[in-house]
Amino acid sequence: MATTESVLKPDFGSSKRHFIFTDEHERLRESIHAFVTKELAPHAEEWEETTFPDSVFRRMGELGFLGLSYPEEYGGQGGDYFCNLVLGEELTYANSGGLAMGIAVHTDMATPPVHLFGTEEQKQQYLVPSIKGEKISSLGITEPDAGSDVAGIKTRAVRDGDEYVINGSKTYITNGHRSDYIVLVTKTDPDAGYDGFTLFLVDMDTEGVIREKRLQKLGMHASDTALLAFQDVRVPETAVLGQVGKGFYHIMWELQGERLIGAAGCVAGAQHCMDRTLQYALERTAFGRQIGKFQVIRHKFAEMATKIEAARQLVYTTAWRFANGEYPVREISMAKLYASRIAVEVADECIQIHGGAGYMKEYGVERVWRDMRLNRIGAGTDEIMLDVIGRSYGL
Ligand SMILES: Cc1cc2nc3c(=O)[nH]c(=O)nc-3n(C[C@H](O)[C@H](O)[C@H](O)COP(=O)(O)OP(=O)(O)OC[C@H]3O[C@@H](n4cnc5c(N)ncnc54)[C@H](O)[C@@H]3O)c2cc1C
Repeated sequence: MATTESVLKPDFGSSKRHFIFTDEHERLRESIHAFVTKELAPHAEEWEETTFPDSVFRRMGELGFLGLSYPEEYGGQGGDYFCNLVLGEELTYANSGGLAMGIAVHTDMATPPVHLFGTEEQKQQYLVPSIKGEKISSLGITEPDAGSDVAGIKTRAVRDGDEYVINGSKTYITNGHRSDYIVLVTKTDPDAGYDGFTLFLVDMDTEGVIREKRLQKLGMHASDTALLAFQDVRVPETAVLGQVGKGFYHIMWELQGERLIGAAGCVAGAQHCMDRTLQYALERTAFGRQIGKFQVIRHKFAEMATKIEAARQLVYTTAWRFANGEYPVREISMAKLYASRIAVEVADECIQIHGGAGYMKEYGVERVWRDMRLNRIGAGTDEIMLDVIGRSYGL
């Protein structure tokens, strides 16, 4: 309840947490933050050259960070969905978009379908070691000839007795070189339209799985990105994940979580980049004053802060609906679209505010821009998000 005294001065210093988070989330945030800044961030530069080591998964498994919202019976922490948001946000402080993406693929993209659709045996075989960081996962949707058009994939799985034989290729696969298994999207019945897709859990050391090429990228250098081939790969029928013929719907569900965690990462990344740039604008002087005191720069911060706050509210409210059992595909698409766009805009403005320093590797802002740029493409492009949103109005 506002009092006369409390409304005399605006409370710019207030940093009350959002209502979706509890004290427990804040404690989790502190412990992830301490780990990330102490054990990951110091290696950010080195891992741009080498990609981050697999030992990060094992360490995060030991700390319980890879199964925050999975049930305790599988080694998880039994937390809610907001714990995943906390992880996604705090990984930003590793100053390595590639690392954050490699971890998010494991925690929020490849393992959720195993948890939701997997049999008990599959959960024991894949989810339990994934939560411990002993098995690393990847997710194979995109192919050389089909990315946005998921229904256009060509990878085929053909039944042969009590096995399936898989042929095809996947590209741009994050963790593709390091992963122990892949959640693979295939077509089992090309004539059945959306009802002709099936997901498989494929061990990456199965005969016929070929890790072809380590792909070179604009950013996200700390992650590994693979071109994969599947040549007469034989898997037992127990490798089917979820229902035969329902893989398209299963993967569309997976994409919602992927887009939402990506959006949360974009907001946190944009905030972190702006905070660092604010510091710079208060230290750097030109024409006898701090550059941040020029109106034009001040307004850049005002624009950035407003966009970040708007994106944050959209992400949190949508996450709250998602966590409460709704399936808000339209709002998830909006959050993914908007957060990705503003994160790139913010990173770009931060380079501008740094001047020449922004173009130098030393300051790390150029890396934020290069890493962030992926978000307008990966997990569904801006154009696809716009189409999903537009179509949701019956257009
Ligand atoms: C670094 C990186 C990591 C990735 N990690 C993974 C991963 O782990 N697993 C995985 O499966 N995939 C991964 N991807 C793939 C990513 O999801 C796809 O690149 C993305 O979905 C776009 O597909 P595409 O590249 O084939 O582009 P295309 O589909 O060829 O699109 C090209 C252009 O056409 C536009 N377009 C296409 N269709 C339409 C339409 N209907 N209306 C309007 N415009 C349209 C697109 O918006 C885009 O601008 C990754 C990509 C990158 C770059």
